[in-house]
This record gives sequence, C-alpha cells and structure tokens, in this order.
Amino acid sequence: AKTLRLILGDQLNSRHSWFEKKDDDIFYLMMEMRQETDYVKHHIQKVVAFFLAMRTFSEELLDKGHQVIYYRLDDKHNEQNLQKNLQKIIKEKKIEKFEYQLPDEHRLDKQLKEICDGISIDSEAFDSEHFLTERIFLKEFFKGKKSYLMESFYREMRKKYDILMDGKEPLTGKWNYDHANRNKLKSTDILEPQLLKSRDVSDIVAMIKKSGVETIGSIDEENFIWPYSRRESLALVDYFCKHLLANFGKYQDAMHTDDPFLFHSRLSFSMNSKMIAPLEVVEKVEKYWYEYQDEIDIAQVEGFIRQIIGWREYMRGIYWAKMPDFANLNFFGNRRKLPEFFWTGDTKMNCLKHAIGQSLEQAYAHHIQRLMVTGNFAMLAGIKPDEVDAWYLGIYIDAIEWVEITNTRGMSQFADGGIVGTKPYASSSNYIDKMSNYCGTCHYSKSKKTGDKACPFNSLYWHFYHRNEDKLAKNPRIGMVYRTLAKMKDKEAILDQAEKYLKNLDAL
Ligand code: FAD
Ligand code: SF4
Repeated sequence: AKTLRLILGDQLNSRHSWFEKKDDDIFYLMMEMRQETDYVKHHIQKVVAFFLAMRTFSEELLDKGHQVIYYRLDDKHNEQNLQKNLQKIIKEKKIEKFEYQLPDEHRLDKQLKEICDGISIDSEAFDSEHFLTERIFLKEFFKGKKSYLMESFYREMRKKYDILMDGKEPLTGKWNYDHANRNKLKSTDILEPQLLKSRDVSDIVAMIKKSGVETIGSIDEENFIWPYSRRESLALVDYFCKHLLANFGKYQDAMHTDDPFLFHSRLSFSMNSKMIAPLEVVEKVEKYWYEYQDEIDIAQVEGFIRQIIGWREYMRGIYWAKMPDFANLNFFGNRRKLPEFFWTGDTKMNCLKHAIGQSLEQAYAHHIQRLMVTGNFAMLAGIKPDEVDAWYLGIYIDAIEWVEITNTRGMSQFADGGIVGTKPYASSSNYIDKMSNYCGTCHYSKSKKTGDKACPFNSLYWHFYHRNEDKLAKNPRIGMVYRTLAKMKDKEAILDQAEKYLKNLDAL
C-alpha cells in the first residue's frame, strides 16, 4: 500500500529500522513549519540548527534512494500546519496508510492522535528507537513508590545495559563518584578556543528573517558551530573523549567568565534531535576510557554516563508519567513576571549577566548556570513557572519540552513540590562564589546581606524560605534552614532588603 511516513524535526535517526529497505511505495515526509517555529519564541540558532539538520537528513535519505517530500518554510504550498499539510499530501499522492514515530512532546502526541482519528486511511505509530526505555518504563518501575529516586533508576540502567559493570556489581564496587566532582576552576585550566568546524548558514537565516519568524538571541552566520549531521555529531563525541573527558566530572559544576563551554560535551542537540543515540555515546565513551584508564580516572567517566543514562532518561520517564498535569504545577503559587534582563543580559548581577549573555550569544549555558544562576534566581524571586518555562524552552539549542520542562519546572523551580528533587535548589551567593569567578568583579558585594550593594541572592534566599515556610518547614532536609532563620538577629532587615529588591527586579 502507498504509505506516507512522517519524520519530525527531532527524529533524525538514520539508523531507524524504517530505513533498512528501499521501497517505491513509501514516501518520507519532512516539513519546516510555522507551527513549530512559533509555539514559543526560539533562539535563532535553534531554528537554524533544526532546519539545517533536517535538510541534511533529507538529502542523505535521497542519496540512499528513498523518496522524500520536503517542505521548506517558504515553499508556496506549505500550509505551515501539520494537519493541513498531511491532509493535502495524503489526498494528492493517493496515500493509503499513514505512519509516524511516537513523538516526544505531549503537544505533538495529542495532535497526531487527533489527526489519525480524523483521516479515513489506516495509521500506525512506531517507536523512535532512540531511548533506553519505553515511555512508560519509569512509571512502572516506581509503581507503588512515593518518590521517584533518580539513583535507583540509574543503577537499573547500568545493570540493564551492562555499563561500567563487573558482572552484577558496579566496576570498582562504587556506583557514584559525585563527591569527587565539585571543583572550582583555575584560570590555567581554561581550554584554548575549541577547534570545531563551522559553517556558513546565512541562506537559512535570511529565509527565517524573510518569513517573519520572531526569534531571540544572536548568531554568527558565517561560523555556525552546532553539529548538523550524524557525522558531525560523531566527530563531537570523539572530540569530547580526546579533549574534555579527562576533566569532565572534576569541573562539571564550575563556571567561568571567559569560557562558556568548559569541559561540557555540547552533545545535547545531537542527541535530542536523535542524530546520535544515548547508548552509542555512552558506549563510545566507556570504550575510550577502557583504553586510556591510566590517564583518565573513573569519576570523570561515571559522572558523564550518569548524566545521559541517568538524568536524561529519567527526565523523559518523569515527563510521560506526569504530563499533561506537570505543565500546570506551581507549588509555591509564584506570580511574578520574568525581569526584562532575561532577554537582554543587561543586569548588574555579574553571574546573571554572564549566564544570560552567553545564552543569548551561544544558545547554550551549562547545567549549573541553568540551575544555580538563572533557575535559582527565578525561584528565589518568585517568578511564575510558565514564564520561566517559556524562557528555557526558547533560548537553548537543546530545548525540547520533555527535557526542558522536567528540568525547569521540576528540578530548578521545585514547582512540582518534589517529584524530581527532594528539596529546592536554592542558594545564596556562597555557592555561586564557590564555583565561579563571577563575584570578584560584580557590582554587588557577595558578603553583604543588607545595605548598599548587598548581593540580591543573599536576602532573596532568606525571603524565599520565610515566605514559603508553610510549604517547606516539614521537609526533613530543610529543617536546619528554619532553625537558622529563627535565630537570626538581623532577620527583619534582611527581609526588608529582599522586599526592596522584589519591588523592582528590573533595576537589579
Ligand atoms: P554535558 O554537561 O556534556 O552532559 C552530557 C549530556 O548529559 C547532555 O548532553 C545531556 O543530554 C545529558 N544531561 C545532563 N544533565 C541533564 C539533565 N539534568 N537532564 C537531562 N539530560 C541531562 N537539557 C536538554 O537537553 N534540554 C533542555 O531543554 C534542558 N533544559 C534545562 C533547564 C534547566 C533549568 C536545567 C537546570 C537543565 C536543563 N537541561 C536541559 C539539562 C542540562 O543542563 C543540559 O542537558 C546540558 O547543559 C547540555 O549541555 P551539554 O550537552 O554540554 O551537557
Ligand atoms: Fe551574583 Fe551576587 Fe556574586 Fe554578584 S555577588 S556575581 S549577584 S552571586
């Protein structure tokens, strides 16, 4: 039967079993659509990265002899909407069966189900053959349990896929090296500018601009660095093994004004678009480490592998276990608007200026910048989770809802009241100063809680705990905070200082 197979922009998995055989009755369909460029305001580099990767993927399919229908954003017959385009093509090509891979977003899952219900031909959904687990695995794994502990999920993945294992035991007898991975960076550890191939993307940028798509952030059109093919993505894995792995865990939490990437892999876009699979990344890194064990200690490798087969896979499981309700959770009832400086980087707070500025420039910030600088600030300042989510979903190259919302609303904002984490990731300037060189050149004084130039994090931190006491005081992991707060002599002055800052966040 004449079959139409849909490939979404984040389903660029060339090793999918769909592509094993050529078949003249099968048409593959890929579309750049306003539906996807406009559901949130995206970073210009993110839109370019997806379109470039999709175009490359479609060309590769054509080269292998498959039949491909590709709609560019500015094609005249493009209806800019999934349903409308599908209906039209099904009719025009006299399609008898519609097939798709299970999408990773609830939004598209719902839309595709509705489309299938509304068309008269047969339809069938396939696995995307990317993740280590099926959508429902996590929910079933934790059935009957009160909390969804990442660590137990992670150990299960290590065992199931035999990664860093010695039979049934973890290699070396230890599962976790997190305690060894918390170092501040010395300036001498900063890498030379990294040698990644760049590409001219001015044609795609021009098309996006001409179409009137609204975007955020900037782009160096002649030197675009994000990988756009499987080959480029694999080269980035090699680069990571050779140059970054040896220091990955050690400096995982470090932040520095002169280096936005440090020892992070930048593989999130390659994986989230499915150009490469999590298991192959992890197996390559594990293999490399076995070869160079003398030079690279296991803490670095374990730290990296945990992020991918632990956190990434776990977040996906949480998403399917808790959506769509998860998207409305607001445990603290936060209502404030996101300050304007999130869109410009124009703030006197040096940590935020750098974390936001680099996000606008690179469509990238690493985990601790997202969690302990921007995320921490938004939670302490009581920003509405919808606003925080929209920002994270738009600005990062790797932002797709399943992994964005679980990290943002869950891990960083604690808006889920403790599904993803057991306590809020709240901190004063102490943590930021410990892990970065931001405070040294800041307008604000990291050691002051009140008065002229007092670091806003210091008073907002206590205000956050004070105003949410009814929600947090019972949490056994937070008891200490409330005991300290109760004994604090300058408590009122600190709360007043925070009130002052909260009244005019835009001025910070
Ligand atoms: P590395 O530090 O090199 O880590 C390797 C890989 O581990 C990453 O590529 C990623 O696939 C995975 N990983 C690490 N931490 C996490 C995590 N917490 N959750 C899921 N995967 C993880 N990641 C996204 O892919 N998309 C998002 O939209 C996203 N939004 C986030 C929002 C907030 C508020 C926070 C705190 C984190 C978010 N993350 C998100 C997780 C993490 O920050 C990024 O995956 C990471 O910074 C990507 O850079 P990298 O590839 O250099 O990562
Ligand atoms: Fe950020 Fe406060 Fe440090 Fe300034 S002093 S960089 S605002 S933590």
